[in-house]
Amino acid sequence: VRLRWGLIGASSWAAEWMIDAFRAVEGGAVTAVLSASAERGARFAQDHGIPGAAASLDELLGDPDVNAVYVSTTNDLHAEQVLAAAAAGKHVLCEKPIATTVQDARRMVAACREAGVVLGVNHHLRSQDTVRTMRSLVASGEIGDVLSARCAHLVSLPPQRRTWRTTRPEAGAGAVLDLTVHDVDTLRFLLADEIDTVSALTVTQGVAASGIEDTVVGAMRTRGGVPVTFHDAFTHAHSGTALEVHGTTGTLVGQDLFGPEPSGTVTLRRGAVVRSVPIPERRNAYERTVERFAAAAGGDGRPAADGADGFASTATAIAVLASAAEGRAVAVEHL
Ligand code: NDP
Repeated sequence: VRLRWGLIGASSWAAEWMIDAFRAVEGGAVTAVLSASAERGARFAQDHGIPGAAASLDELLGDPDVNAVYVSTTNDLHAEQVLAAAAAGKHVLCEKPIATTVQDARRMVAACREAGVVLGVNHHLRSQDTVRTMRSLVASGEIGDVLSARCAHLVSLPPQRRTWRTTRPEAGAGAVLDLTVHDVDTLRFLLADEIDTVSALTVTQGVAASGIEDTVVGAMRTRGGVPVTFHDAFTHAHSGTALEVHGTTGTLVGQDLFGPEPSGTVTLRRGAVVRSVPIPERRNAYERTVERFAAAAGGDGRPAADGADGFASTATAIAVLASAAEGRAVAVEHL
């Protein structure tokens, strides 16, 4: 279906990646943008060639020209905006985490289902060709039975992103809601399994303000009994990112694959033999996400990551925060 997008949030992610992705998919157009500041909204619309700058959420959602919205405001605002979009009958692509409470996440999934609108979540990593290749190899038994997995989402948060993410707890700041949610979605996709229990420790190393974690280490266990370790940070300038799955007959190692670009490598190890795994194509993961979303809005299939996936990653990240705060292992809530 041809999607005419309304942007809820004049965000940098919309500017840097999503507007291009919306326009790249056949028939896609960006019709209007909503900002809390009329001036910023007007400038954003002008800078990106968007015809309309809406004055309110009601105005944007009441625009008959808009048939889908992209919610990329700060994390605390996603829930009320998605609920309003569902009530207005618009399909919704929401940024991760979909909410900052499990209760809100549950309400959002239910509301979209009841309204008959598609809820997609912008977990782009499952649309990266590196991760897709790893998943196919795991699923086809290339590494035997999965024994464990390891995830290192270590970045140096760029200076321009050291805003609400590192200063405003009430906006849903911190490395867990920013990075660990992506890990969870990627691991669920890779292992075709659910995260059951988590245990985590957080620290603040100077990128985030006092009381907000900018580094987290922890462990998860899947329903299928696979142990996973994860290590996520805003503070690591030199480490790179990595995703490893260890099986009874081999290990897959993905490196530098957690960014927005379609980059990274995958290697397969068996004993002393290490071979590089060819990646058949390297598409823009956001375009693939939008393409799948548009198809789903037209009744063809499901979004790459849907509301249930967004619920799972959000609920797991919230369990990670609870574990770190309470110093105990926490069971993850499921839909
Ligand atoms: P931004 O900080 O760029 O935008 C978030 C909000 O901040 C905007 O909606 C805007 O409010 C406000 N804002 C933007 N610029 C200014 C400014 N100069 N002064 C004051 N307020 C401003 O956030 P991101 O684009 O980094 O993230 C938005 C969402 O996207 C988050 O949920 C994040 O987790 C997610 N994200 C997802 C990624 C992915 O790969 N899936 C990658 C990056 C982010 P207003 O709209 O009212 O103008």
